[in-house]
Amino acid sequence: MEEYILTIDEGTTSARAVIFNKNSEIVAMCGKEFAQYYPEPGWVEQDPKEIWLTTKEVINRVMLQSGIDPKQIKAAGITNQRETVVVFDKNTGEPVYNAIGWADRRTAPYCDELKKQGLEKMFIDKTGLLIDGYFSGTEIKWILDNVPGAREKAEAGDLYFSNIDGWIMYKLTEGECHLTDYSNASRTQCFNIHTLEWDDDMLKLFTIPKSMCPTVLPSSGHFCTIERHDIFSGVAVPIEGCIGDQQSATFGQCCFEPGMCKMTFGTAGCMLMNIGDKPIPSKNNLLLTIGWGLDGEVDYIYEGTVYNAGSSIQWLRDEMDLIDTTPDSEYFAAKSILPRGYVYVVPAFSGLGAPWYDSYARATIFGLHRGANKNDIIKATLDSLGYQTRDIANAMAKDAGAPIKLLRIDGGAANNNIVAQFVADIVGADAERPVNVETTAAGAAYLAGLSVGYWKDKNEIVEYRKIDRLFHPQMDEKMREELYAGWVNCVESLMIWSKNAKR
Ligand code: ADP
Repeated sequence: MEEYILTIDEGTTSARAVIFNKNSEIVAMCGKEFAQYYPEPGWVEQDPKEIWLTTKEVINRVMLQSGIDPKQIKAAGITNQRETVVVFDKNTGEPVYNAIGWADRRTAPYCDELKKQGLEKMFIDKTGLLIDGYFSGTEIKWILDNVPGAREKAEAGDLYFSNIDGWIMYKLTEGECHLTDYSNASRTQCFNIHTLEWDDDMLKLFTIPKSMCPTVLPSSGHFCTIERHDIFSGVAVPIEGCIGDQQSATFGQCCFEPGMCKMTFGTAGCMLMNIGDKPIPSKNNLLLTIGWGLDGEVDYIYEGTVYNAGSSIQWLRDEMDLIDTTPDSEYFAAKSILPRGYVYVVPAFSGLGAPWYDSYARATIFGLHRGANKNDIIKATLDSLGYQTRDIANAMAKDAGAPIKLLRIDGGAANNNIVAQFVADIVGADAERPVNVETTAAGAAYLAGLSVGYWKDKNEIVEYRKIDRLFHPQMDEKMREELYAGWVNCVESLMIWSKNAKR
């Protein structure tokens, strides 16, 4: 009887169930979107019950669709949108408020206050994170402060908080567990990434009772067992892996050794570098976070996010009407005659992320002259994905004390060959695109599979990894540095504009 590993992939806009075989190939996949709610400008919420029902549905559908018997599922892993947080009654499982999404900005003023109090160093020292409303801590505090009766219940020990991983495990076990893993805990701003424990000072600052916190486990190992009549027909399936989505993609890309890194070109862009077991804070504005806990060890990660990657190609399609589909961008960019270095697009639609961090910057096109045309703008927009990668790669190389030689790429826009080649050219490193671009789902499957001996060790997983295409740098050093200097000039000019612009 052939056995399989199931990944429950809790994305920001959809839940998916993905079944992997021993060769780490996907044999079945099923996904369904759930709603996003925007009750006020800058607020982003999701309905935890809808996420749960969607999850149950996709698990059941993938089993039906694949014809695989539940007894053939050796273990399951969970990967999830990070930071999004649910506060719920531990006795009834009833959420006291919607899930507050990672993109929610409601706690930005509170974060400004924390910065004014000079607490940035404490945040970095304890959690590796910068002060920002993306992370869960400020949002939990918001719920306790604003939902009538929540604080009293929390003080009485009746409320739990969870990210989506823990919420789903609670539901899958009918309220029997309240768990998370190191990688998810490290995004709450309440977890000390050095001691691997909930941090009393951070909890006190956010006025969060410790009784609300989930138990934190290594990312690979036994979490709980699903044993529900309405999932897998009551067959017991253990959950043996749990990891936040970006860390999961890094594991799924087999970045197992220090210095190995991946860049995901989705809607946003997220670059992570494995730095091994020593949590050395970044000196270059990157986040220091936990990658995963495995085999009694913890791997740490540097992380940098660019807010607009694939979204800028969508902008070409949806707002500018320059292309019909996002893959068309490759065709038109190839027709651009103007050499690089004339037109630059800085796609700061929602500000600039790592390592610049300017939330007031806005997208700008530089260097248009009378002959510049649609193709040049499309190519410059594609190139912006490369330049932004180089921004983070530079910061990572400085922190790591060694240049990046190989970058593993994935996400929708990594399928664009012009993007992939320019990334290699401008970073000056090989860009490697795997056949399996579902790296996020793969990471959680690997962690679950390793825990139950489905795969012997990481080396075996590496053997199954297949490369679609390797992009070698073809640009000479002088050109690379000139083009990049042109980009930095544009970004710095934009930041001067943003300082002077009327807000
Ligand atoms: P997410 O997980 O953030 O939804 P995906 O990894 O699914 O993102 O990638 C979707 C993004 O990739 C979209 O923003 C889209 O513009 C971009 N994209 C997809 N295919 C291409 C392509 N061939 N060329 C350029 N961009 C692409």
